Amino acid sequence: MIHQLMSFTMASNVFILEDDITVMVDAGMGLSRRVTDYVEEKGLTIDVLVNTHCHVDHTGGNGLFPHAKIYAHELDAPDIEAGSQKTLWHFGFERPFKFPVSKVLKEGDIINTGNHNLSVIHTPGHTEGSMSLYEEDTGVLFSGDCVFDMGIGRMDFPTGNAEDMKKSLKRLLTLDIETIYAGHGGIGTKDSIRTGLEFFF
Ligand SMILES: [Zn+2]
Repeated sequence: MIHQLMSFTMASNVFILEDDITVMVDAGMGLSRRVTDYVEEKGLTIDVLVNTHCHVDHTGGNGLFPHAKIYAHELDAPDIEAGSQKTLWHFGFERPFKFPVSKVLKEGDIINTGNHNLSVIHTPGHTEGSMSLYEEDTGVLFSGDCVFDMGIGRMDFPTGNAEDMKKSLKRLLTLDIETIYAGHGGIGTKDSIRTGLEFFF
């Protein structure tokens, strides 16, 4: 089961794949009790926290789940650990967020949760270490800030790159995708990728 905690603020959406190993995809900003209250109410234990990339609006909430293992792509993991400028902590925070990464992921890695297999798809463009998680059986894609229901991620932040973004979107278009659980906004479909490519490139 996938729990969807859609955000109405700057914080990222938060998705929880409840299974033998329960995985949270992005943790929001961590400034309210919205996510922790939900997790408590549903009696969930978060085993793994996947950060689709290093930005604070996706990682700030990591600190609310100190027992969860944090997974991130190898190119963004060092920034999450160091709380570097690349994480954009300076957007309204006095001190950087720093979190230890338990597992560094790369293209092709599989996260097996028991009944689900999530493949890591490296989708740079928003940051160099941005990744999406894809479940082939169900056509589910967790896209982080690569592609949204309506639009694509910004390419002007540190290590953002328009050419990378274009390649990432083209790559995603080759997959059988039914549902896109994006980092912000509503739930997307494969058309979101097509529209993003047509509109921005
Ligand atoms: Zn971002």
